[in-house]
Amino acid sequence: MKISKYPQKETWSELVKRPVLQREKLTELIADIFNEVEKNGDQALIDFNKKFDKVEVKNINVSEEEIENVENLISTELKQAIQQAKDNITKFHASQIVEIEKVETTKGVICWRENRAIEKVGIYIPGGTAPLFSTVLMLAIPAQLAGCKEIILCTPPDKNGNINPAILYTAKLCGVTKIFKTGGAQAIAAMTFGTQSIPNVYKIFGPGNQFVVAAKEYAQSFGVSIDMPAGPSEVLVIADEKAVPAFCAADLLSQAEHGSDSQVIFLSTEEKIFNQTIEETEKQLKELPRNEFAGEALKNSHFVLLKNLDEALEFSNLYTPEHLILALKDYEKYILKIQNAGSVFLGNYSCESAGDYASGTNHTLPTNGFAKNYSGVSLDSFVKKITFQHLSKEGLQNLGKTIEIMAEAEGLFAHKNAVSIRLNQENERV
Ligand code: NAD
Repeated sequence: MKISKYPQKETWSELVKRPVLQREKLTELIADIFNEVEKNGDQALIDFNKKFDKVEVKNINVSEEEIENVENLISTELKQAIQQAKDNITKFHASQIVEIEKVETTKGVICWRENRAIEKVGIYIPGGTAPLFSTVLMLAIPAQLAGCKEIILCTPPDKNGNINPAILYTAKLCGVTKIFKTGGAQAIAAMTFGTQSIPNVYKIFGPGNQFVVAAKEYAQSFGVSIDMPAGPSEVLVIADEKAVPAFCAADLLSQAEHGSDSQVIFLSTEEKIFNQTIEETEKQLKELPRNEFAGEALKNSHFVLLKNLDEALEFSNLYTPEHLILALKDYEKYILKIQNAGSVFLGNYSCESAGDYASGTNHTLPTNGFAKNYSGVSLDSFVKKITFQHLSKEGLQNLGKTIEIMAEAEGLFAHKNAVSIRLNQENERV
Protein backbone atom coordinates (compact mmCIF):
# COMPACT_ATOMS: atom_id res chain seq x y z
CA MET A 1 0.00 0.00 0.00
CA LYS A 2 1.09 3.53 -0.70
CA ILE A 3 1.03 5.90 2.27
CA SER A 4 0.92 9.70 1.95
CA LYS A 5 0.73 12.23 4.76
CA TYR A 6 -0.68 15.68 4.07
CA PRO A 7 0.17 15.63 0.34
CA GLN A 8 0.17 18.98 -1.47
CA LYS A 9 -2.93 19.46 -3.65
CA GLU A 10 -0.73 19.64 -6.76
CA THR A 11 0.21 15.99 -6.19
CA TRP A 12 -3.39 14.72 -5.84
CA SER A 13 -3.80 14.11 -9.57
CA GLU A 14 -1.08 11.43 -9.29
CA LEU A 15 -2.74 9.85 -6.26
CA VAL A 16 -6.16 9.52 -7.93
CA LYS A 17 -4.81 7.68 -10.99
CA ARG A 18 -6.11 4.16 -11.60
CA PRO A 19 -3.69 1.32 -12.32
CA VAL A 20 -3.10 1.62 -16.07
CA LEU A 21 -3.74 -1.11 -18.56
CA GLN A 22 -1.95 -1.56 -21.85
CA ARG A 23 -4.79 -0.20 -23.97
CA GLU A 24 -3.30 -0.75 -27.40
CA LYS A 25 -2.72 -4.46 -26.99
CA LEU A 26 -6.10 -4.87 -25.34
CA THR A 27 -7.99 -3.23 -28.22
CA GLU A 28 -6.19 -5.45 -30.74
CA LEU A 29 -7.03 -8.58 -28.76
CA ILE A 30 -10.70 -7.59 -28.44
CA ALA A 31 -10.99 -6.90 -32.19
CA ASP A 32 -9.51 -10.34 -32.93
CA ILE A 33 -11.92 -12.05 -30.54
CA PHE A 34 -14.92 -10.24 -32.10
CA ASN A 35 -13.80 -11.27 -35.62
CA GLU A 36 -13.44 -14.86 -34.62
CA VAL A 37 -16.88 -15.00 -32.95
CA GLU A 38 -18.57 -13.26 -35.89
CA LYS A 39 -16.98 -15.76 -38.30
CA ASN A 40 -17.19 -19.02 -36.36
CA GLY A 41 -20.05 -18.52 -33.88
CA ASP A 42 -20.45 -21.28 -31.27
CA GLN A 43 -17.25 -23.03 -32.35
CA ALA A 44 -15.23 -19.89 -31.57
CA LEU A 45 -16.80 -19.79 -28.09
CA ILE A 46 -15.90 -23.43 -27.50
CA ASP A 47 -12.32 -22.71 -28.63
CA PHE A 48 -12.03 -19.62 -26.41
CA ASN A 49 -13.31 -21.62 -23.43
CA LYS A 50 -10.36 -23.94 -24.02
CA LYS A 51 -7.87 -21.13 -24.52
CA PHE A 52 -8.79 -18.71 -21.73
CA ASP A 53 -10.76 -20.79 -19.23
CA LYS A 54 -8.85 -24.04 -19.79
CA VAL A 55 -12.01 -26.06 -20.08
CA GLU A 56 -13.51 -28.28 -22.74
CA VAL A 57 -17.23 -27.62 -23.17
CA LYS A 58 -19.00 -29.48 -25.99
CA ASN A 59 -22.19 -27.45 -25.86
CA ILE A 60 -22.38 -23.87 -24.64
CA ASN A 61 -26.15 -24.11 -24.00
CA VAL A 62 -27.18 -24.79 -20.44
CA SER A 63 -29.90 -27.44 -20.61
CA GLU A 64 -33.27 -27.36 -18.82
CA GLU A 65 -32.12 -30.45 -16.95
CA GLU A 66 -29.00 -28.72 -15.62
CA ILE A 67 -31.17 -25.86 -14.35
CA GLU A 68 -33.75 -28.18 -12.75
CA ASN A 69 -31.02 -30.18 -10.98
CA VAL A 70 -29.57 -27.25 -9.07
CA GLU A 71 -32.62 -27.02 -6.81
CA ASN A 72 -31.13 -29.82 -4.67
CA LEU A 73 -27.62 -28.37 -4.65
CA ILE A 74 -28.51 -25.15 -2.85
CA SER A 75 -28.91 -25.16 0.91
CA THR A 76 -32.15 -23.90 2.45
CA GLU A 77 -30.13 -21.23 4.24
CA LEU A 78 -28.72 -19.86 0.98
CA LYS A 79 -32.14 -20.02 -0.70
CA GLN A 80 -33.61 -17.96 2.14
CA ALA A 81 -30.76 -15.43 1.93
CA ILE A 82 -31.23 -15.07 -1.85
CA GLN A 83 -34.98 -14.63 -1.32
CA GLN A 84 -34.50 -11.83 1.24
CA ALA A 85 -32.03 -10.06 -1.04
CA LYS A 86 -34.44 -10.50 -3.96
CA ASP A 87 -37.32 -9.00 -1.96
CA ASN A 88 -35.29 -5.92 -1.00
CA ILE A 89 -33.84 -5.38 -4.49
CA THR A 90 -37.33 -5.77 -5.96
CA LYS A 91 -38.80 -3.32 -3.45
CA PHE A 92 -36.17 -0.66 -4.16
CA HIS A 93 -36.26 -1.04 -7.95
CA ALA A 94 -40.07 -1.20 -8.10
CA SER A 95 -40.11 2.18 -6.36
CA GLN A 96 -38.38 3.56 -9.47
CA ILE A 97 -41.47 2.92 -11.62
CA VAL A 98 -42.95 6.34 -12.27
CA GLU A 99 -46.54 7.26 -13.11
CA ILE A 100 -47.14 8.71 -16.56
CA GLU A 101 -47.54 12.46 -16.20
CA LYS A 102 -49.33 14.32 -19.00
CA VAL A 103 -48.32 17.99 -19.18
CA GLU A 104 -50.28 20.71 -20.97
CA THR A 105 -47.44 22.99 -22.11
CA THR A 106 -49.76 25.42 -23.95
CA LYS A 107 -53.57 25.21 -23.91
CA GLY A 108 -54.47 22.30 -26.22
CA VAL A 109 -50.88 20.95 -26.41
CA ILE A 110 -50.35 17.85 -24.29
CA CYS A 111 -46.97 16.09 -23.95
CA TRP A 112 -45.92 13.00 -22.00
CA ARG A 113 -43.41 10.15 -21.83
CA GLU A 114 -44.01 6.42 -21.67
CA ASN A 115 -41.52 3.70 -20.88
CA ARG A 116 -41.07 0.72 -23.15
CA ALA A 117 -38.87 -2.16 -22.10
CA ILE A 118 -35.82 -2.97 -24.20
CA GLU A 119 -37.04 -6.24 -25.70
CA LYS A 120 -33.80 -8.24 -25.79
CA VAL A 121 -31.13 -7.77 -23.12
CA GLY A 122 -27.97 -9.70 -22.33
CA ILE A 123 -26.50 -9.90 -18.87
CA TYR A 124 -22.88 -10.79 -18.20
CA ILE A 125 -22.14 -12.50 -14.91
CA PRO A 126 -18.48 -12.55 -13.93
CA GLY A 127 -17.25 -15.99 -13.08
CA GLY A 128 -13.49 -15.85 -13.49
CA THR A 129 -12.36 -15.86 -9.90
CA ALA A 130 -15.68 -15.73 -8.01
CA PRO A 131 -19.14 -16.81 -9.21
CA LEU A 132 -21.08 -13.58 -8.68
CA PHE A 133 -24.64 -14.88 -8.41
CA SER A 134 -25.51 -11.64 -6.58
CA THR A 135 -25.03 -9.87 -9.93
CA VAL A 136 -27.81 -12.03 -11.37
CA LEU A 137 -30.17 -10.47 -8.82
CA MET A 138 -28.89 -6.97 -9.59
CA LEU A 139 -29.51 -7.28 -13.34
CA ALA A 140 -32.33 -9.76 -13.84
CA ILE A 141 -34.66 -8.22 -11.23
CA PRO A 142 -34.83 -4.75 -12.83
CA ALA A 143 -34.93 -6.34 -16.31
CA GLN A 144 -37.97 -8.36 -15.31
CA LEU A 145 -39.64 -5.42 -13.55
CA ALA A 146 -39.11 -3.30 -16.66
CA GLY A 147 -40.80 -5.98 -18.79
CA CYS A 148 -37.84 -7.12 -20.97
CA LYS A 149 -39.08 -10.12 -23.00
CA GLU A 150 -35.78 -11.89 -23.56
CA ILE A 151 -33.16 -11.88 -20.79
CA ILE A 152 -30.15 -13.99 -21.72
CA LEU A 153 -27.19 -14.67 -19.47
CA CYS A 154 -23.56 -15.47 -20.29
CA THR A 155 -20.99 -16.54 -17.70
CA PRO A 156 -17.72 -18.48 -17.88
CA PRO A 157 -17.85 -22.20 -17.03
CA ASP A 158 -15.75 -23.55 -14.15
CA LYS A 159 -12.87 -25.99 -14.55
CA ASN A 160 -15.33 -28.90 -14.94
CA GLY A 161 -17.38 -27.13 -17.58
CA ASN A 162 -20.24 -26.33 -15.22
CA ILE A 163 -21.87 -23.14 -14.08
CA ASN A 164 -22.01 -22.46 -10.40
CA PRO A 165 -25.36 -23.80 -9.07
CA ALA A 166 -26.12 -20.54 -7.24
CA ILE A 167 -25.90 -18.63 -10.55
CA LEU A 168 -28.29 -21.10 -12.20
CA TYR A 169 -30.66 -21.11 -9.23
CA THR A 170 -30.80 -17.30 -9.05
CA ALA A 171 -31.19 -16.97 -12.82
CA LYS A 172 -34.20 -19.29 -12.78
CA LEU A 173 -35.70 -17.48 -9.79
CA CYS A 174 -35.39 -14.10 -11.55
CA GLY A 175 -36.83 -15.01 -14.95
CA VAL A 176 -33.68 -15.34 -17.08
CA THR A 177 -34.77 -16.94 -20.35
CA LYS A 178 -31.54 -18.62 -21.57
CA ILE A 179 -28.11 -19.30 -20.07
CA PHE A 180 -24.81 -19.88 -21.88
CA LYS A 181 -21.38 -21.14 -20.85
CA THR A 182 -19.13 -18.48 -22.22
CA GLY A 183 -17.23 -15.62 -20.60
CA GLY A 184 -14.90 -12.72 -21.24
CA ALA A 185 -14.81 -10.67 -24.44
CA GLN A 186 -16.09 -13.61 -26.49
CA ALA A 187 -19.38 -13.64 -24.55
CA ILE A 188 -19.85 -9.94 -25.28
CA ALA A 189 -19.09 -10.54 -28.97
CA ALA A 190 -21.62 -13.40 -29.04
CA MET A 191 -24.38 -11.22 -27.58
CA THR A 192 -23.47 -8.50 -30.09
CA PHE A 193 -23.55 -10.57 -33.28
CA GLY A 194 -25.54 -13.61 -32.21
CA THR A 195 -24.28 -17.16 -32.85
CA GLN A 196 -26.02 -20.44 -33.71
CA SER A 197 -27.06 -20.73 -30.04
CA ILE A 198 -26.91 -17.23 -28.61
CA PRO A 199 -29.39 -14.62 -29.81
CA ASN A 200 -28.04 -11.13 -30.41
CA VAL A 201 -29.36 -8.51 -27.99
CA TYR A 202 -30.03 -4.76 -28.05
CA LYS A 203 -28.26 -3.89 -24.80
CA ILE A 204 -25.54 -5.60 -22.76
CA PHE A 205 -25.28 -5.28 -18.98
CA GLY A 206 -22.92 -6.39 -16.27
CA PRO A 207 -19.55 -5.93 -14.68
CA GLY A 208 -16.38 -7.79 -15.51
CA ASN A 209 -12.63 -7.66 -15.74
CA GLN A 210 -10.64 -5.46 -18.14
CA PHE A 211 -11.39 -7.79 -21.10
CA VAL A 212 -15.13 -7.61 -20.51
CA VAL A 213 -15.13 -3.83 -20.05
CA ALA A 214 -13.08 -3.27 -23.22
CA ALA A 215 -15.34 -5.66 -25.16
CA LYS A 216 -18.49 -3.83 -24.05
CA GLU A 217 -16.94 -0.58 -25.19
CA TYR A 218 -16.07 -2.18 -28.56
CA ALA A 219 -19.55 -3.69 -28.96
CA GLN A 220 -21.03 -0.20 -29.18
CA SER A 221 -19.48 0.29 -32.61
CA PHE A 222 -21.81 -2.50 -33.83
CA GLY A 223 -24.96 -0.72 -32.69
CA VAL A 224 -25.39 -2.44 -29.34
CA SER A 225 -25.75 -0.25 -26.28
CA ILE A 226 -24.28 -0.97 -22.86
CA ASP A 227 -25.15 -0.10 -19.29
CA MET A 228 -21.83 1.58 -18.45
CA PRO A 229 -18.12 0.86 -18.03
CA ALA A 230 -18.29 -1.31 -14.86
CA GLY A 231 -14.78 -2.63 -14.35
CA PRO A 232 -12.49 -3.57 -11.47
CA SER A 233 -14.11 -2.66 -8.17
CA GLU A 234 -13.14 0.31 -6.01
CA VAL A 235 -13.96 1.75 -2.63
CA LEU A 236 -12.96 4.99 -0.95
CA VAL A 237 -13.41 5.29 2.81
CA ILE A 238 -13.35 8.60 4.67
CA ALA A 239 -12.82 8.23 8.40
CA ASP A 240 -12.97 10.72 11.27
CA GLU A 241 -12.16 10.27 14.96
CA LYS A 242 -15.32 8.20 15.53
CA ALA A 243 -14.52 5.66 12.80
CA VAL A 244 -13.67 2.09 13.82
CA PRO A 245 -10.32 1.02 12.27
CA ALA A 246 -11.31 -2.68 12.18
CA PHE A 247 -14.53 -1.83 10.29
CA CYS A 248 -12.66 0.43 7.83
CA ALA A 249 -10.05 -2.26 7.18
CA ALA A 250 -12.76 -4.87 6.58
CA ASP A 251 -14.49 -2.58 4.06
CA LEU A 252 -11.25 -1.85 2.22
CA LEU A 253 -10.42 -5.54 1.99
CA SER A 254 -13.94 -6.41 0.85
CA GLN A 255 -13.21 -4.58 -2.41
CA ALA A 256 -9.53 -5.49 -2.62
CA GLU A 257 -10.47 -9.19 -2.61
CA HIS A 258 -12.46 -8.81 -5.87
CA GLY A 259 -9.31 -8.98 -7.95
CA SER A 260 -5.71 -7.91 -8.24
CA ASP A 261 -6.86 -5.04 -10.47
CA SER A 262 -9.18 -3.58 -7.80
CA GLN A 263 -8.20 -0.40 -5.98
CA VAL A 264 -9.03 0.91 -2.51
CA ILE A 265 -8.44 4.34 -1.00
CA PHE A 266 -8.46 5.30 2.66
CA LEU A 267 -8.65 8.95 3.71
CA SER A 268 -8.49 10.13 7.28
CA THR A 269 -8.01 13.31 9.21
CA GLU A 270 -6.96 11.54 12.42
CA GLU A 271 -3.43 10.15 12.60
CA LYS A 272 -4.32 7.58 15.28
CA ILE A 273 -7.24 6.15 13.25
CA PHE A 274 -5.04 6.30 10.14
CA ASN A 275 -2.23 4.22 11.67
CA GLN A 276 -4.60 1.76 13.34
CA THR A 277 -6.46 1.18 10.06
CA ILE A 278 -3.19 0.38 8.27
CA GLU A 279 -2.31 -2.11 11.02
CA GLU A 280 -5.79 -3.67 10.95
CA THR A 281 -5.73 -3.97 7.16
CA GLU A 282 -2.42 -5.85 7.30
CA LYS A 283 -3.70 -8.07 10.10
CA GLN A 284 -7.05 -8.92 8.46
CA LEU A 285 -5.39 -9.46 5.08
CA LYS A 286 -3.42 -12.40 6.46
CA GLU A 287 -6.63 -14.13 7.52
CA LEU A 288 -8.40 -13.86 4.17
CA PRO A 289 -8.69 -16.90 1.90
CA ARG A 290 -8.39 -14.57 -1.13
CA ASN A 291 -5.39 -12.70 0.34
CA GLU A 292 -3.39 -13.17 -2.84
CA PHE A 293 -5.84 -11.01 -4.85
CA ALA A 294 -6.36 -8.56 -2.01
CA GLY A 295 -2.61 -8.25 -1.41
CA GLU A 296 -2.01 -7.44 -5.07
CA ALA A 297 -4.83 -4.89 -5.09
CA LEU A 298 -3.41 -3.22 -1.98
CA LYS A 299 -0.15 -2.58 -3.83
CA ASN A 300 -2.13 -0.20 -6.08
CA SER A 301 -3.98 1.35 -3.17
CA HIS A 302 -3.50 4.62 -1.30
CA PHE A 303 -3.79 5.53 2.37
CA VAL A 304 -3.83 9.31 2.64
CA LEU A 305 -3.80 11.49 5.73
CA LEU A 306 -5.48 14.86 5.12
CA LYS A 307 -5.93 18.08 7.07
CA ASN A 308 -9.71 18.19 7.33
CA LEU A 309 -12.91 16.57 6.10
CA ASP A 310 -13.59 19.23 3.47
CA GLU A 311 -10.26 18.29 1.90
CA ALA A 312 -11.20 14.62 2.10
CA LEU A 313 -14.46 15.26 0.25
CA GLU A 314 -12.62 17.29 -2.36
CA PHE A 315 -10.12 14.44 -2.86
CA SER A 316 -12.96 11.92 -3.09
CA ASN A 317 -14.83 13.96 -5.72
CA LEU A 318 -11.64 14.15 -7.76
CA TYR A 319 -11.07 10.38 -7.47
CA THR A 320 -14.77 9.62 -8.14
CA PRO A 321 -15.09 6.26 -6.40
CA GLU A 322 -17.47 3.51 -7.40
CA HIS A 323 -18.28 3.07 -3.69
CA LEU A 324 -17.88 5.78 -1.07
CA ILE A 325 -18.10 5.09 2.65
CA LEU A 326 -18.44 8.00 5.06
CA ALA A 327 -17.31 6.55 8.38
CA LEU A 328 -18.11 9.87 10.00
CA LYS A 329 -20.00 10.95 13.09
CA ASP A 330 -21.72 13.81 11.25
CA TYR A 331 -22.06 12.15 7.87
CA GLU A 332 -25.30 14.04 7.15
CA LYS A 333 -23.37 17.31 7.03
CA TYR A 334 -21.29 16.02 4.12
CA ILE A 335 -23.96 14.49 1.87
CA LEU A 336 -24.43 17.65 -0.18
CA LYS A 337 -20.68 17.91 -0.71
CA ILE A 338 -20.60 14.56 -2.53
CA GLN A 339 -20.43 15.40 -6.21
CA ASN A 340 -19.05 12.22 -7.82
CA ALA A 341 -19.63 8.65 -6.58
CA GLY A 342 -21.45 5.51 -7.74
CA SER A 343 -23.08 4.54 -4.44
CA VAL A 344 -22.65 5.96 -0.93
CA PHE A 345 -22.68 4.24 2.48
CA LEU A 346 -23.31 6.41 5.52
CA GLY A 347 -22.10 5.79 9.07
CA ASN A 348 -20.20 3.03 10.82
CA TYR A 349 -22.80 0.31 10.29
CA SER A 350 -23.38 0.85 6.56
CA CYS A 351 -20.85 -1.62 5.25
CA GLU A 352 -20.43 -1.79 1.52
CA SER A 353 -21.25 -5.50 1.47
CA ALA A 354 -24.84 -4.53 2.35
CA GLY A 355 -25.20 -2.82 -1.02
CA ASP A 356 -23.26 -5.59 -2.73
CA TYR A 357 -25.82 -8.18 -1.69
CA ALA A 358 -29.02 -7.35 -0.01
CA SER A 359 -29.96 -3.84 1.11
CA GLY A 360 -31.82 -3.14 -2.14
CA THR A 361 -29.57 -0.75 -4.12
CA ASN A 362 -27.87 -1.95 -7.28
CA HIS A 363 -24.24 -3.06 -7.14
CA THR A 364 -23.52 -2.64 -10.86
CA LEU A 365 -21.83 0.72 -10.73
CA PRO A 366 -19.52 2.89 -12.83
CA THR A 367 -15.82 2.49 -12.04
CA ASN A 368 -12.59 4.15 -13.19
CA GLY A 369 -13.93 7.70 -12.68
CA PHE A 370 -17.02 7.13 -14.84
CA ALA A 371 -19.32 8.06 -11.95
CA LYS A 372 -18.59 11.63 -13.09
CA ASN A 373 -20.98 11.08 -15.99
CA TYR A 374 -22.73 7.71 -15.52
CA SER A 375 -25.19 6.36 -12.95
CA GLY A 376 -25.33 2.82 -11.67
CA VAL A 377 -27.81 0.32 -13.08
CA SER A 378 -31.44 1.01 -12.22
CA LEU A 379 -34.86 0.26 -13.65
CA ASP A 380 -34.30 3.10 -16.14
CA SER A 381 -31.36 1.22 -17.65
CA PHE A 382 -33.78 -1.39 -19.04
CA VAL A 383 -36.27 0.94 -20.71
CA LYS A 384 -36.44 3.51 -23.44
CA LYS A 385 -38.53 6.56 -22.81
CA ILE A 386 -40.76 7.46 -25.73
CA THR A 387 -42.27 10.93 -25.89
CA PHE A 388 -45.85 11.48 -27.06
CA GLN A 389 -47.86 14.60 -27.87
CA HIS A 390 -51.36 15.54 -28.88
CA LEU A 391 -52.30 18.96 -30.26
CA SER A 392 -55.94 19.86 -30.61
CA LYS A 393 -57.01 22.39 -33.29
CA GLU A 394 -57.01 25.01 -30.55
CA GLY A 395 -53.54 23.85 -29.47
CA LEU A 396 -52.10 24.36 -32.94
CA GLN A 397 -53.79 27.73 -33.18
CA ASN A 398 -52.14 28.72 -29.89
CA LEU A 399 -48.65 27.49 -30.85
CA GLY A 400 -48.67 27.68 -34.66
CA LYS A 401 -47.33 31.20 -35.04
CA THR A 402 -44.27 30.38 -32.91
CA ILE A 403 -43.48 27.29 -34.98
CA GLU A 404 -43.92 29.18 -38.27
CA ILE A 405 -41.61 32.00 -37.19
CA MET A 406 -38.91 29.60 -35.98
CA ALA A 407 -39.14 27.37 -39.09
CA GLU A 408 -38.88 30.37 -41.38
CA ALA A 409 -35.88 31.69 -39.47
CA GLU A 410 -34.14 28.32 -40.02
CA GLY A 411 -35.08 28.41 -43.71
CA LEU A 412 -37.16 25.24 -43.39
CA PHE A 413 -40.32 26.13 -45.31
CA ALA A 414 -41.79 22.65 -45.42
CA HIS A 415 -41.74 22.69 -41.64
CA LYS A 416 -43.57 26.04 -41.68
CA ASN A 417 -46.04 24.79 -44.22
CA ALA A 418 -46.98 21.76 -42.12
CA VAL A 419 -48.44 24.29 -39.67
CA SER A 420 -49.79 26.87 -42.14
CA ILE A 421 -51.65 24.31 -44.23
CA ARG A 422 -53.55 23.19 -41.16
CA LEU A 423 -54.32 26.66 -39.89
CA ASN A 424 -55.33 28.14 -43.23
CA GLN A 425 -57.39 25.37 -44.66
CA GLU A 426 -60.66 24.04 -43.28
CA ASN A 427 -60.81 20.30 -43.75
CA GLU A 428 -64.02 18.41 -43.32
CA ARG A 429 -62.18 15.23 -42.26
CA VAL A 430 -60.93 16.76 -39.00
P1 NAD B 1 -14.81 -12.19 -15.54
O1 NAD B 1 -15.94 -13.12 -15.75
O2 NAD B 1 -15.02 -10.74 -15.69
O3 NAD B 1 -13.63 -12.58 -16.53
C1 NAD B 1 -13.23 -13.90 -16.76
C2 NAD B 1 -13.03 -14.08 -18.25
O4 NAD B 1 -11.97 -13.25 -18.70
C3 NAD B 1 -12.63 -15.49 -18.63
O5 NAD B 1 -13.76 -16.26 -18.87
C4 NAD B 1 -11.81 -15.29 -19.89
O6 NAD B 1 -12.60 -15.51 -20.99
C5 NAD B 1 -11.39 -13.84 -19.85
N1 NAD B 1 -9.93 -13.79 -19.78
C6 NAD B 1 -9.15 -14.11 -18.72
N2 NAD B 1 -7.84 -13.97 -19.05
C7 NAD B 1 -7.81 -13.57 -20.35
C8 NAD B 1 -6.76 -13.24 -21.26
N3 NAD B 1 -5.49 -13.30 -20.90
N4 NAD B 1 -7.09 -12.84 -22.50
C9 NAD B 1 -8.39 -12.75 -22.88
N5 NAD B 1 -9.43 -13.05 -22.07
C10 NAD B 1 -9.14 -13.45 -20.81
O7 NAD B 1 -14.26 -12.55 -14.07
P2 NAD B 1 -13.08 -11.97 -13.20
O8 NAD B 1 -11.78 -12.06 -13.92
O9 NAD B 1 -13.20 -12.68 -11.90
O10 NAD B 1 -13.39 -10.44 -12.98
C11 NAD B 1 -14.58 -9.94 -12.38
C12 NAD B 1 -14.40 -8.44 -12.28
O11 NAD B 1 -15.64 -7.79 -12.06
C13 NAD B 1 -13.47 -7.99 -11.17
O12 NAD B 1 -12.51 -7.12 -11.73
C14 NAD B 1 -14.39 -7.25 -10.21
O13 NAD B 1 -13.73 -6.22 -9.53
C15 NAD B 1 -15.43 -6.72 -11.15
N6 NAD B 1 -16.74 -6.36 -10.56
C16 NAD B 1 -17.20 -5.11 -10.79
C17 NAD B 1 -18.44 -4.71 -10.32
C18 NAD B 1 -18.97 -3.32 -10.65
O14 NAD B 1 -20.14 -3.04 -10.41
N7 NAD B 1 -18.17 -2.46 -11.20
C19 NAD B 1 -19.24 -5.61 -9.60
C20 NAD B 1 -18.74 -6.89 -9.37
C21 NAD B 1 -17.48 -7.27 -9.88
